[in-house]
Amino acid sequence: MADINGFLKIKRKEAGNRPLNERIQDFSEVEQVLNSEDRMLQASRCMDCGIPFCHWGCPVDNLIPEWNDLLYKGDWRGAYLRLAATNNFPEYTGRICPAPCEHACVLNINQEPVTIRENEVAIVEKAFSEGYIKPEPPEIRTGKKVAVIGSGPAGMAAADLLNKNGHLVTLFEKDEKAGGLLRFGIPDFKLSKAIIDRRLNLMTEEGILIKTGITAGKDISGKELLNQFDAICITIGAGHPRSLPVAGSEFDGIHFAMDFLTAQNKVNAGQLTAADNHINAGGKKVLVIGGGDTGSDCVGTAIRQKALSVTQIEILPKPPEKRTPDNPWPYWGKILKTTTSHEEGCERFWNISTLRFVGDGKITRGTEVEDVIWESENGKFIMKPVPGTKRVIECDMVLLALGFVHPVLDGLLTELGVELDYRKNVSVNNSMTTNIPKVFAAGDTISGASLVVNAIASGRKVARQIDRFLKTT
Ligand SMILES: Cc1cc2nc3c(=O)[nH]c(=O)nc-3n(C[C@H](O)[C@H](O)[C@H](O)COP(=O)(O)OP(=O)(O)OC[C@H]3O[C@@H](n4cnc5c(N)ncnc54)[C@H](O)[C@@H]3O)c2cc1C
Ligand code: SF4
Repeated sequence: MADINGFLKIKRKEAGNRPLNERIQDFSEVEQVLNSEDRMLQASRCMDCGIPFCHWGCPVDNLIPEWNDLLYKGDWRGAYLRLAATNNFPEYTGRICPAPCEHACVLNINQEPVTIRENEVAIVEKAFSEGYIKPEPPEIRTGKKVAVIGSGPAGMAAADLLNKNGHLVTLFEKDEKAGGLLRFGIPDFKLSKAIIDRRLNLMTEEGILIKTGITAGKDISGKELLNQFDAICITIGAGHPRSLPVAGSEFDGIHFAMDFLTAQNKVNAGQLTAADNHINAGGKKVLVIGGGDTGSDCVGTAIRQKALSVTQIEILPKPPEKRTPDNPWPYWGKILKTTTSHEEGCERFWNISTLRFVGDGKITRGTEVEDVIWESENGKFIMKPVPGTKRVIECDMVLLALGFVHPVLDGLLTELGVELDYRKNVSVNNSMTTNIPKVFAAGDTISGASLVVNAIASGRKVARQIDRFLKTT
């Protein structure tokens, strides 16, 4: 165990963020880094509870009390090895995981959980800087070939483990660079793309063949994949965005969040010039529709592009500031989340329904909205408009951040005839196999839009199943 009285002596201390006025001038990561001594003290707060609820809360089953103990004792290498045993990419989750582990940490009963996520990223960054992480290609190759389709965190995790098991892995990616939503969705101010490149370089040096700019189902058909590989793993994400079918939704000036975020990420990467980025919020009054994480990323990006104003609306009620009795610890706390982007200057409203966009081929005046209330009827929440509350929110740019409904069905999935579930996600059995022999699937493709840590967990699970399958064929 770390220090038995650690949590009584040491207060939770977060690394904190770069000063607001400085960080909104660039797209560099917002979060700062704590020095090693303070980080070890933070690890000392872990009580190594008899039942580690944090471990239960972590989708990749990170051995949190074990690596906190090693970190507290200054054994950074040992801590890294324990961390790497369950998580292929702690450098991603340590930066952008919403940390369900901290919601479940026993110290969260007093709202002072261990800084688990920050400890995680500190351990892996030390491992990179001290050179503990080196390419480790497998010593023996099985000769079996696996195609992983889609290079987001699910595909990367599956490819990484299958390669470590000695199989020859080709990772296909339709975009010009690998990384999935880590690269083109999530803004640089949350996750620097150098972090993804560092990992991809390592994976390449370990023997994974990464083929970018290739759309499976178009540039290489499903039939060719089936002929050329012993197993196929589909990790194409859930890229079909939810639309907002109200009058004027076809107007110029209304964009899907992903188009907006991708364009800025490409500008940052030098793949697009700022002048050629036509989805720019500079000088505009921006309305973000959708109160989730993607919406928050739009807020931070619009602010950095020097929007005149940013407003974010959400159709659901405002979450409570504290847990309610029906949402106790150690469950995920359904409470109001204020991100660093919100702090940077955005007005937020809840219980608002969008009625129509006002303009003439182009959004000019704004967006007509109305207040709603949610009433429980026969166990279901029903949305009801509040009479007399119709009004126009002034804006000349709208970003639709309403989430994703399911994977893109055209192309590979349709060609292979992969069976879907009732939500149109790919359906798999307990072995992560689809209805097509030797075709497996994982990540957002089977769960619908979720989290990076869930995608990694799913990629790890499918890799174990594919490995088992290849050993028996
Ligand atoms: C804006 C935004 C912000 C987010 N922020 C967070 C966050 O802060 N924390 C968090 O935990 N989660 C976050 N998420 C969710 C997280 O990014 C996803 O849950 C996760 O990336 C899903 O991983 P995946 O590997 O299943 O799919 P994806 O990351 O979507 O990767 C799928 C890949 O498949 C490729 N592909 C698709 N079709 C083909 C084809 N036919 N051939 C070849 N390649 C193909 C795609 O180009 C893509 O690269 C965010 C999501 C968005 C959109
Ligand atoms: S991956 Fe996420 S849930 Fe797991 S330990 Fe890290 S921050 Fe916590």
